[in-house]
Amino acid sequence: MTEVTRFGEAAGETAASFRCGACGEMAAVVRAVGAGEPVDMGPPLGRQSHDRDGIVVDYFGGTAWKLADPATYAAVCAVLSTRAPDPAELRRIDWELAPFYCPDCGLCYCRADWHTYVLFDEGFYDCTMGTCPAGHRHMVDD
Ligand SMILES: [Zn+2]
Ligand SMILES: [Zn+2]
Repeated sequence: MTEVTRFGEAAGETAASFRCGACGEMAAVVRAVGAGEPVDMGPPLGRQSHDRDGIVVDYFGGTAWKLADPATYAAVCAVLSTRAPDPAELRRIDWELAPFYCPDCGLCYCRADWHTYVLFDEGFYDCTMGTCPAGHRHMVDD
């Protein structure tokens, strides 16, 4: 098995897949999706299109669509269209675009390898924290 690095593989013109540094499985796919392009959000939502540009983070605990302003969208497209998409760059733009990436390890991890726990604020969902295989603690979902 070749050693997994943090860098992604192109999965389309403006999409990249990232492998887990612990188990080698797919950790996440990040896609820049233009306004009007349908996105398969999985059940129960199915295919949906948005009237704004957005970024989709897929596989990492479901499918999340996030609104991107023009500057963010362009920056993410630039990262995703390189030969070795860098999750550290995505995380620098917005950590929610690469919650699967541990900046302390410099590796991506799949959801199963982030040992997650949910924080509640007065009984309401607050966020999900995760501990990477090396013991670093980061927020993985807000
Ligand atoms: Zn894994
Ligand atoms: Zn780590």
